Amino acid sequence: MQLSDTLTDHFRIDTPHQKALKRLGIETVEQLLYHLPARYEDISDIQSVGGLEKGQDAVVYGQLGGLKTRKAWRSKKPIAEGWIEDGSARIKIMWFNQPYLAKMYSDGLYVKVAGKVTGSEDKLYIANPEVEKLDSLPVDRHDSIFKGAEGLDDTIYPVYRESKGVTSKWFYHTTLKCFEKGVLDTLHDPIPEAILQRYKLPVLKTALVWIHSPKKAEHAESARKRFAFEEVFYIQVQKAIERAAVSAATTYSFKTSKEHVAEFTDRFPFTLTKAQDKAVGEILRDFGGNHAMSRLLEGDVGSGKTAVAATTAYAVATSRPPEGTGTKIEFGNLQVAYMAPTEILAKQHFESFIELFKHLPIQIGLITGSGCLKYPSKTNPNEPTKISKAQLLKWVKNGEIPILIGTHALIYKSVEFKHLAYVIIDEQHRFGTNQRKALAKKDARIPHLLSMTATPIPRTLALTIYGDLDITLLDQMPKGRKPVITKVVGPGGQKEMYEHVQSELEAGRQAYVICPRIDEPDPDKQSALNLKSVKAEAARLKKDVFKNARIAVLHGKMKPAEKDTVMQQFLDHDIDILVATSVVEVGVNVPNATNIIIEGAERFGLSQLHQLRGRVIRGTYQPYCFAVTDSKSDKTRERLKALTTAKNGFELAEHDLTFRGSGELYGQKQSGLSDLGMEAIKNLKLVEAARNEAQTLVREHPDLSHDFPLIAHKVSHLGETLHME
Ligand code: ADP
Ligand code: MG
Repeated sequence: MQLSDTLTDHFRIDTPHQKALKRLGIETVEQLLYHLPARYEDISDIQSVGGLEKGQDAVVYGQLGGLKTRKAWRSKKPIAEGWIEDGSARIKIMWFNQPYLAKMYSDGLYVKVAGKVTGSEDKLYIANPEVEKLDSLPVDRHDSIFKGAEGLDDTIYPVYRESKGVTSKWFYHTTLKCFEKGVLDTLHDPIPEAILQRYKLPVLKTALVWIHSPKKAEHAESARKRFAFEEVFYIQVQKAIERAAVSAATTYSFKTSKEHVAEFTDRFPFTLTKAQDKAVGEILRDFGGNHAMSRLLEGDVGSGKTAVAATTAYAVATSRPPEGTGTKIEFGNLQVAYMAPTEILAKQHFESFIELFKHLPIQIGLITGSGCLKYPSKTNPNEPTKISKAQLLKWVKNGEIPILIGTHALIYKSVEFKHLAYVIIDEQHRFGTNQRKALAKKDARIPHLLSMTATPIPRTLALTIYGDLDITLLDQMPKGRKPVITKVVGPGGQKEMYEHVQSELEAGRQAYVICPRIDEPDPDKQSALNLKSVKAEAARLKKDVFKNARIAVLHGKMKPAEKDTVMQQFLDHDIDILVATSVVEVGVNVPNATNIIIEGAERFGLSQLHQLRGRVIRGTYQPYCFAVTDSKSDKTRERLKALTTAKNGFELAEHDLTFRGSGELYGQKQSGLSDLGMEAIKNLKLVEAARNEAQTLVREHPDLSHDFPLIAHKVSHLGETLHME
């Protein structure tokens, strides 16, 4: 048996089963072996049904039987009952007042049952138990769960992520059969042995055995660590390769004096925060170096990223290309492209830039799907003017317009720059090496890149998905900013909240209402549900709560133009309350919106909640955030409380990483990491080790596909970029 063999070469698998496997991306032996257990079930504390005693909290595994519903003979209340049998004995289970429960399960089903043992000594039963369906019983691993099979010190067995039509049990047994057929002897470990030894990680063969059929919990853990390392390592190798490609390319190198920059920043109506100052300094230093900058500027909403972007753009737009000093004086300075995720944001940036650059002879262009503008207009030096796209592109190409702001339209083929030295990307991180190259076009030099984000992500995740970028944090808010007053609103607290928001509306303010994201695996279904909740909530608020308010909805299913229209109306205060899903455009500045109600807050990560409330801190008014939850769980309330105590978004992101299941962490889907990869992200040492090893490997082996073909192969299958959206 070879790794590359298809499973159907060795196993009889019927068509529905094959399809189910395909849905999980499994066709070959290799893909099966890399379908790792999602978790392990510890069966050491399982009780045998025969040994249960009255008053005990029981956890038993077995098969259901005798399910039926009946009416209690005196009270006539419905009762569902049946039994669970585990080979040693059977015990009755009963649900009171929940007759439908018996219909949810069927006889013969494998289940885990947990509940309190009650009744009299000879008529014991488990009342209102919790039942979990299983695809197989723990006995499948051992001959009997009650006597550990030989050589097994521990009693854990693997549980795999299933799909309709493929059970965890099938994965387990088929994987073991592959082992028996000798596939392990054909394996070549892609990871160099020296690296594995440095971190005491098992070699591939051992790791596969340990992860699929661990004899001890530590073995499973050690194997998981190896695969987690491997996953992060490949990503880091990819990032290191991207980084090396950028470093090898030539770029624009230019120096800017402090005094020159001060001429620009001194005109700001505020002084830069220390963090902004430092960020500007780092970027200018990069401009003066020999390699193109690749930098991520991470800062909470309102931390002033635009000022950093504008100041550094100024340094670029007032610098000359190196060939400009030749005999034939070149026309035009170095150029900046500033890309925003939406039209409204692009327009807002355009307007901010006009404000900041109006005293300078620097033209600014705006390009979006719906047209082009240029500042200043020839006829009115204080206003921008509409121009044709052809005209704008001509001026960009000949270098007359040094600053071009826009949406994705910026990277269309038709847009050519003369000396593009600096690309700024706001809130869209799917921008990788390839796009940067595409923008540079014929120019032999590649531009410096600044990617800006308000998404607070933990350091380990940043190191992984932004592994090819240097990171600068804007971890300081401008002075005098009023922090958001945040309240966690439990059941019963709504009335007061609505009264408060109503008084704010009456004072002329506006509000957002965010409806919960519904955790639904099918993305289409998800947006359908979101849609329903957004629309229903808007209708409810109009009917019952804010009767005189102008209410509109915004959700992901709307066309970009429709979204823009609604956002514009909200910005113009033609709408008082915007009911939206969490997709509500990031970064749009509506200073008059001072209240945000977040329904179903427990469904969000803290960092996501933090980002949502960032929408209301743009104005001079006191902002409020209401995190509404129906959850009665103390843990949930406790977690949400962190919103009121944490100093910044990064703290909350770390909180998320520690306290939520790693799989729920915001950005997993976008980052392309597996569950195991996300687990790895909790481990800073592991991520740093993978990163260091990857960087060393790429540095020492520029021809990776020759020296380490297996690694090169894995990396080439990672997809283009893993940056978050
Ligand atoms: P973000 O980081 O979310 O993009 P912005 O750049 O839009 O934030 O800045 C938010 C607001 O803060 C803007 O109105 C801006 O003029 C203002 N601002 C930026 N820097 C400072 C500062 N150092 N002091 C006071 N206000 C500032
Ligand atoms: Mg911004």
